[in-house]
Amino acid sequence: MEVNCEGCAGCCMDWRSLLEGDSESTDANSGENGGEYGSGGDRDSGRRPRRRRDPIDGVDGDAPSRKPLDDDPNFVALTRDEVRAFLEAGMGDALTPRFWEARDESEGVEVDGHTVAAVAGRPAFFVGLRKPPKPVAPFGREEPTWLPSCVFLDPTTLQCRIHESDLFPDECGSYPAYNLALEQETECERVEAAVGGDRLLEADSDDTEGLLLGSQALGAKLFSHPRPADLAGIVGRAAAGELTRRDRAEAIAVAAASSPGTLAISDHHYGWAKARVLEGEGADSSAEREPWVGPAIRDWHRRHREGVGAVPPPDVADAVEVERGAPETPGWDALE
Ligand code: SF4
Repeated sequence: MEVNCEGCAGCCMDWRSLLEGDSESTDANSGENGGEYGSGGDRDSGRRPRRRRDPIDGVDGDAPSRKPLDDDPNFVALTRDEVRAFLEAGMGDALTPRFWEARDESEGVEVDGHTVAAVAGRPAFFVGLRKPPKPVAPFGREEPTWLPSCVFLDPTTLQCRIHESDLFPDECGSYPAYNLALEQETECERVEAAVGGDRLLEADSDDTEGLLLGSQALGAKLFSHPRPADLAGIVGRAAAGELTRRDRAEAIAVAAASSPGTLAISDHHYGWAKARVLEGEGADSSAEREPWVGPAIRDWHRRHREGVGAVPPPDVADAVEVERGAPETPGWDALE
């Protein structure tokens, strides 16, 4: 897929506040959603006719897509095997679940005042990557702005820290091919419409290998919690953008314990995964796999909280991420 990503990373951050002139909206883990599985909301450029894509149904159909409880416009949904790989690498802190509002009471489960979309009476969810606030200056902007940005985005180069890694998610490696194959607008087109330039250099794709839609996704990318009562408090905090590590651990453990094509949950993998998230133990010794992620996320949130109004330069990421063990990115000159 030919795209021009230099100076962009629009698909790795929530840049809606740049359009709205509100640079202080920085928590992607709360509120409403557009994006790959969502509505696209106020960023639609109208250049590509949109087909409905829904996390549970797949594509097409007349009913609207289900609305996520969180506010991440480009949530990266991970497969069960990818969830396990992040846990094995000691990077459970990078992960977070996504739930959806059911279309109506008959298809959902009531938790914390939300009718959560469910499969066979079990609350359904994805697991994806967190977006802490980072100081970034995309699209040729002179000054950095705090924007919710993927935990793996290097704010200095706007490149992905795990691009060459075996942890690189299939959803990221396939972007925007899946959107094009499903006739959905891409983030590249939204950026072009908003700030100009040529981002999408190839407009056609029929690559849907690995997409996992509808029933194909069950247990592989779309997970379901077998004990809805255990999500009491968690669903409410997911909607409020206030998930704790223990909250995230509950959903991530179920995802890691899931079995593709079934509703089965492995008790062994559930216990292993939950301990992995809660303890962050057992990381490999290579620099790429050191558990820098959790401390870096907490540091970004602290710096944003304490420094609202004062945005540091993006290269403060050297202190926040690289010095804790994050892999460096090559920069664009090295790729030319
Ligand atoms: S993993 Fe990399 S490519 Fe994917 S959203 Fe994060 S920074 Fe972007």
